[in-house]
Amino acid sequence: MSNKLRAIRGMNDILPEVSGTWRYLESTVQAIVESYGYREIRLPLLEQTELFKRSIGEVTDIVEKEMYTFPDRNGESLTLRPEATAGVVRAGMTNGLFHNQKQKLWTTGPMFRYEKPQQGRYRQFYQFDVEAVGFDGPDVDAELIIMSARMWQRLGIDKIRLEINSLGTPAARAGYREALVEYFSSVKNQLDEDSIRRLEQNPLRILDSKNPDMKALVEAAPIMLDFLDEASAEHFAALKALLDAAGVPYSVNPRLVRGLDYYSRTVFEWVTDALGSQGAVCSGGRYDGLVEKLGGRPTPAVGWAMGIERLVALFEACGGKAPVADADVYIAALGEGTLERAFALAEELRDQVTGIRIEMNLGGGSFKSQMKRADKSGAEYALILGEQELAEGQVGIKPLRSTDDQESVALDELAATLAKILR
Ligand code: ATP
Ligand code: MG
Repeated sequence: MSNKLRAIRGMNDILPEVSGTWRYLESTVQAIVESYGYREIRLPLLEQTELFKRSIGEVTDIVEKEMYTFPDRNGESLTLRPEATAGVVRAGMTNGLFHNQKQKLWTTGPMFRYEKPQQGRYRQFYQFDVEAVGFDGPDVDAELIIMSARMWQRLGIDKIRLEINSLGTPAARAGYREALVEYFSSVKNQLDEDSIRRLEQNPLRILDSKNPDMKALVEAAPIMLDFLDEASAEHFAALKALLDAAGVPYSVNPRLVRGLDYYSRTVFEWVTDALGSQGAVCSGGRYDGLVEKLGGRPTPAVGWAMGIERLVALFEACGGKAPVADADVYIAALGEGTLERAFALAEELRDQVTGIRIEMNLGGGSFKSQMKRADKSGAEYALILGEQELAEGQVGIKPLRSTDDQESVALDELAATLAKILR
């Protein structure tokens, strides 16, 4: 069939067999950031195109070629968010959250970028995002990193390392920019097309090139750390001292610039070698100029974003397994009038045994086929309601994961018995 329905390229369905792992990771991460005082903000997926152009920067991969942009029915240009920071800042400004207040916020959900789909790189992907607005740092920069280190530790993720750098102030970066233009102009005949274009408009982006042919050139380029202004150098030194004191290892990567324009001073990336070339798991930095650039008062801010697909893959690569959420009991009903009783019993148990997970046999079937389904459900026990058991006020409890014998329990003792054996 030529017009068979298909999913959109680079946009994945998260199926039940993996969604449990997703939820476990998301809830663990949420609990940790909440315990540090971050509060959730939920945002629209769509924003004015202008917001992303102004915040991320015109001469970036995202704005140049990765955004899903379309006219709304009234003609206004809208864009599916490619990242979360711009929306958080927009929401903070339009709701007055940054007026004489500091905010520690988290948000999560899908992001959209028209990239070449491959392992670890999708067109709809999920991020967990944390932003601290109104804080100068470097204390909050350190806390954000320490908080992420705690996540890895809690999740048993060890194949990960931290890289940090400082991009200084915009003024300091202007000096660095000149040095970069001079250097890259001297090797212009070796630059790729993207880099030549960036040489004029945004030479820092050349350092972020994913083209392996550019690697040697980028490595020989001048480094930002030699151009840092004094205040940024102090800020960076203080961040390193706080990380040292907290026992969080890091390496300084002077080529780390990050793919968005709005960063200043601290930038960092948690990277892994366990996932092939898609090694960036959690990336962040300081964006002291962004609120002002979007029309607000000068407001320092810092945050990070973590790719959830990459977190899931890394968790598994480190041997992680989410706790299983199979049923506790599977109820089999056999014979005349037993189904009604089984439903009533299931509801009673749900009232009486806190948190019990019950799966009912649906669609009838012989004893054998009901037991087959019970086994497949992963349940610990099958509850067997036959005509004769019910007539005697009894129910059969059959262990499904051990060789123990089936037992009979009086119906009015069932809840108490289950409460005991399921602990
Ligand atoms: P990369 O260098 O891999 O392109 P990035 O610098 O574009 O990453 P950010 O914009 O900083 O990434 O986004 C934060 C995190 O979101 C990344 O560290 C990564 O884990 C994840 N991420 C980014 N783009 C994608 C994508 N297309 N598919 C899946 N995850 C992604
Ligand atoms: Mg990218």
